[in-house]
Amino acid sequence: MGGLELTNTQYARMVEIVGMDDLGVGITLGAHQSIGFKGILLYGNPAQKEKYLPKLAKGEMIAAFCLTEPASGSDAASIKIIAVRSPYREYFTLNGGKIWISNGGLAEIFTVFAKTP
Ligand SMILES: Cc1cc2nc3c(=O)[nH]c(=O)nc-3n(C[C@H](O)[C@H](O)[C@H](O)COP(=O)(O)OP(=O)(O)OC[C@H]3O[C@@H](n4cnc5c(N)ncnc54)[C@H](O)[C@@H]3O)c2cc1C
Repeated sequence: MGGLELTNTQYARMVEIVGMDDLGVGITLGAHQSIGFKGILLYGNPAQKEKYLPKLAKGEMIAAFCLTEPASGSDAASIKIIAVRSPYREYFTLNGGKIWISNGGLAEIFTVFAKTP
């Protein structure tokens, strides 16, 4: 899909080296790839992988991971945000809010944790 095919150890070393210069860039890389698009990589269907992973691997799209909420941090199960499915099952509407999302201001792909009815 266009990535560098680093092992986890090689990837961790790369972030470590980048972080020696500017850890903020290391966090951007980590939020993008370690958590931001990991869901698509591990559990995406073939169409989702084909659509998103090449651009994510090249950095043409940046990803973010949205779990933390104003009243929910370590206790991830207590999130309040609700995902409501549209009548024709085409999309979800998210009702609620997230905070402290690394890459939140620049990402185009958001992995969002939400509860469903
Ligand atoms: C630099 C940075 C980047 C972040 N990026 C993201 C991001 O990209 N996406 C995202 O979703 N979130 C992000 N977060 C939020 C982060 O995931 C939360 O801060 C974290 O989950 C802790 O939640 P909290 O701050 O609400 O603390 P709390 O969960 O309220 O914890 C407060 C204190 O209580 C302790 N504590 C909590 N539960 C227990 C327990 N059961 N037993 C004993 N002690 C406990 C904790 O150790 C801590 O000392 C980021 C945070 C930082 C600082």
